[in-house]
Amino acid sequence: MKNLKLVAARPDFSRSIINVQGVEFGRGFVVIAGPCSVETEKQTIETAIAVKKAGALMLRGGAFKPRTSPYAFQGLGLKGLKILDKAKKETGLPIVTEVVDTRDVSWVGEYADILQIGARNMQNFSLLREVGKSGKPILLKRGMYSTLEEWLNCAEYILAEGNPNVILCERGIRTFETYTRNTLDLSMVPAVHKETHLPIIVDPSHGTGILSMIEPMSLAALMAGANGLEIEVHIDPESALSDKDQQLTVPQFEKLMRKLDRAKAFLDSLDAEFADKASGNGGGDADKTDDGSEAKIFADAVD
Ligand code: PEP
Ligand code: MN
Repeated sequence: MKNLKLVAARPDFSRSIINVQGVEFGRGFVVIAGPCSVETEKQTIETAIAVKKAGALMLRGGAFKPRTSPYAFQGLGLKGLKILDKAKKETGLPIVTEVVDTRDVSWVGEYADILQIGARNMQNFSLLREVGKSGKPILLKRGMYSTLEEWLNCAEYILAEGNPNVILCERGIRTFETYTRNTLDLSMVPAVHKETHLPIIVDPSHGTGILSMIEPMSLAALMAGANGLEIEVHIDPESALSDKDQQLTVPQFEKLMRKLDRAKAFLDSLDAEFADKASGNGGGDADKTDDGSEAKIFADAVD
């Protein structure tokens, strides 16, 4: 791909591991979970406790909501960030939250462990430059009308500011299909592994918008080689102020996490079996990570 100097796959195929408060993107499988929006202290903290218990490693929650309608709930702003901070103190879970305005980057960064750039702002170049300068880890969601090349160029903007800590997030694109909210393009997972050294996670919540599709697409993302998931979970989805139809209940999330654990064990056994066959002593399909250890990805999935 043209013009990709910093995000392009390295000649030795080594992969970046982004360490966020001890949570490593690019090694293992990281699940970020939490409500679409921070609504109340009770809702956020109860959800945080529940997702942590189920195995999530980070808490998500929007304090600034980029909504289609200007009259829809726009988020609690600073109050929301303070609630997230309390939830972090209560659970120890690092926080992922969206920033939508260049003027807010530095002070939102005081609360966020990862700054999320949402789909609608993927090509907001001044925002990309600003979060690049912030030095915070960035979760860069794919724009709903964007090609892989456009998306990776946006990551390049952030790295070009001296910030290497970018995690990509596939969240579905607009296609002619209207049944789902978006078409979740899981083919981007092996494509990202082929073209860059950056980790990629998948958001099946916005990617489908349909509750019953979140579990199968989460399992599919794991099998496709994703480095993790971002999933919306709410203690009472019926009462949610945004995206009420796609937020998992706590029991639904717990069931998904149990299935993911089983699927991961199966994947590990598959990797071990085929690595053994490829080299006689392991390492066949695995790529090197920054520290020289091996990350299991589906390197052969894309030619
Ligand atoms: C979100 O994750 O809160 C969100 C708004 O997602 P997206 O930017 O992918 O629509
Ligand atoms: Mn949402």
